[in-house]
Amino acid sequence: MEPDFITLTIGKQKNIALIAHDSKKKELIAWCYENQEILKQHFLCGTGTTSRMITEQTGLPVRGYNSGPLGGDQQIGAKIVEGKVDFVVFFSDPLAAQPHDPDVKALLRIAQVYDIPIANNKATADFMLTSSFMKEEYEHKIINFNKNIKDRANHL
Ligand code: PGA
Repeated sequence: MEPDFITLTIGKQKNIALIAHDSKKKELIAWCYENQEILKQHFLCGTGTTSRMITEQTGLPVRGYNSGPLGGDQQIGAKIVEGKVDFVVFFSDPLAAQPHDPDVKALLRIAQVYDIPIANNKATADFMLTSSFMKEEYEHKIINFNKNIKDRANHL
């Protein structure tokens, strides 16, 4: 019988996505600057404006997707599904309504489905970045999507 879960490995070098809502961009850039020695050891990407500002102000190479309100959060969600993003730092603004709130929710949900570490504030990001797992591989269990599709196709 096929297992319900499969084991995937987050490598030593993480694929980190960086996202900040407008009022939080300064805070995320400062966090990246403080932690640049650690972040340099990983692959960085992020939503368009956040990425550009981090690169311009810290020198860290960050691959930019579209701007968040124009689909950048969805692109990062898709990369999680493809196994190409495995760590997210997302400084969201809890005090302002966002035009792309459904996309933000979708990103949080897909990170949860794929058991991806995701920080939504500085304290969580600090704890995550100083975890011993940052220097090791990390195995996690993910729903076996092939089996899931087979079962659903058989029963629906
Ligand atoms: P931005 O998008 O980096 O392009 O500003 C961030 C967001 O609002 O999700």
